[in-house]
Amino acid sequence: MTVTLITGANKGIGFETARQLLELGHTVYIGARDAERGEKAAAELGARFVPLDVTDDASVTAALAAVDAAEGRLDVLVNNAGILGAEAVDGPTALRVFDTNAVGIVRVTEAALPLLRRSANPTVVNVSSSLGSFWAVTNPDRPEFGLPLPLYAASKAAATMLTVQYAKAHPGIKVNALEPGTTATDMTAAFGVGRPAAESARNVVRLATLGPDGPTGTLTDEFGTLRW
Ligand code: NAP
Repeated sequence: MTVTLITGANKGIGFETARQLLELGHTVYIGARDAERGEKAAAELGARFVPLDVTDDASVTAALAAVDAAEGRLDVLVNNAGILGAEAVDGPTALRVFDTNAVGIVRVTEAALPLLRRSANPTVVNVSSSLGSFWAVTNPDRPEFGLPLPLYAASKAAATMLTVQYAKAHPGIKVNALEPGTTATDMTAAFGVGRPAAESARNVVRLATLGPDGPTGTLTDEFGTLRW
């Protein structure tokens, strides 16, 4: 049985990823910062709930300790939790956005590494964004060119770079980043754009179910390699 932890899985793309991986037979831990929302989501899907706030070291340590105690290892980590932080461009907002979208990946991945090393096929998926691609945001033919979201974009560039660095540092663990596709979730509600989360979750599932010989250190969307 594949043991999978998904951060920020109480709704949106993370929730639909959990649903699809459960259908594939994974044991799925729904990480959520709010116990009520997390428990409700886990009960709806038949998943397990683990309290997990990616901005809180103690919470992350406790979450991975709970998975360790129950399973003794982790096969798949999906770093999905994220915020847009479009309300302001200032120091406090920048700290919050980077803390969640980039530092959160470091916290959770570092805590997960000992458990991942006990897996026969360890895999980390970082849900990044094409807004973190220098190529996309400087290309007038791309929609990202006209979307000024400096804090979000910079934090996702960091998330993608962390993916590459973790892949290089841990050759025995597959670490890949993706742009899931523009999705109608609470994050994008103000823009009124996007497709159902279940469709984007398929891209996360693709990377979460790579075989032992699968690629590492990549950035992709559903069409293939996404330029940095
Ligand atoms: P969403 O519906 O707003 O879901 C975000 C999830 O992250 C929620 O479960 C939220 O929990 C959780 N979260 C936020 N801060 C957290 C924290 N400190 N600790 C733990 N969980 C936290 O948005 P989504 O669209 O599904 O986003 C999922 C991922 O996809 C994000 O990384 C996002 O950047 C990325 N993405 C989305 C799109 C898109 O078009 N939607 C495009 C590219 C990339 P609460 O319910 O407690 O807030």
